[in-house]
Amino acid sequence: MSAISKKICMVGDFGVGKTSLIRRFVERQFNDKYLSTVGVKISRKTVELADVKQQEKLNVQLLIWDIEGHAKFKAIAPTYLQGAAGAVIVGDFSRQETLERIPEHVQLFLSVNPKGFIVVAFNKADLVEEEKVEKLFLTYQIQDHERVIKTYPTSAKSGIYVDELFEKLSYQIVEAA
Ligand code: GDP
Ligand code: MG
Repeated sequence: MSAISKKICMVGDFGVGKTSLIRRFVERQFNDKYLSTVGVKISRKTVELADVKQQEKLNVQLLIWDIEGHAKFKAIAPTYLQGAAGAVIVGDFSRQETLERIPEHVQLFLSVNPKGFIVVAFNKADLVEEEKVEKLFLTYQIQDHERVIKTYPTSAKSGIYVDELFEKLSYQIVEAA
């Protein structure tokens, strides 16, 4: 079977749950203990896609890049983002300012990878009331953007929409390649 491999980057403010989303997706685990990422970590996960590119099944190996969130992100971003086919841009439902900054992250990613695709995770959905989820979703969701495929209300804790998010991004990347 042909092995396609694609780089995708986790992008978002410090503490929004980037590392936790990867752990949920790759290791099927969640940990409340704070695990700060040191430097850059690359996780691998193979996703099986159905009915794409006239093939019944297609395996894609995702190389998921995770970076330590710190103030100098903008300075090192170009090297970190280079060569990525896609990004998961993450905000935190319980901290509105992290949702406000998502458009900046979108711009930054696309400035390095204009042909890349983006899915957005509004994470920690388990921490806010359902009504608030809906309201924030409507306020901050990016719509009608050629490169931003979809926004999901995720929770690395419960696991909701985590697989969907990564699968949607993989599908779009492979379909467009
Ligand atoms: P990062 O800096 O973006 O990588 O964020 P982390 O993945 O390290 O998460 C920061 C903190 O938020 C940790 O204490 C996590 O346990 C917690 N966290 C991450 N995702 C969720 C979530 O979906 N729900 C809840 N309740 N806590 C979360
Ligand atoms: Mg992290």
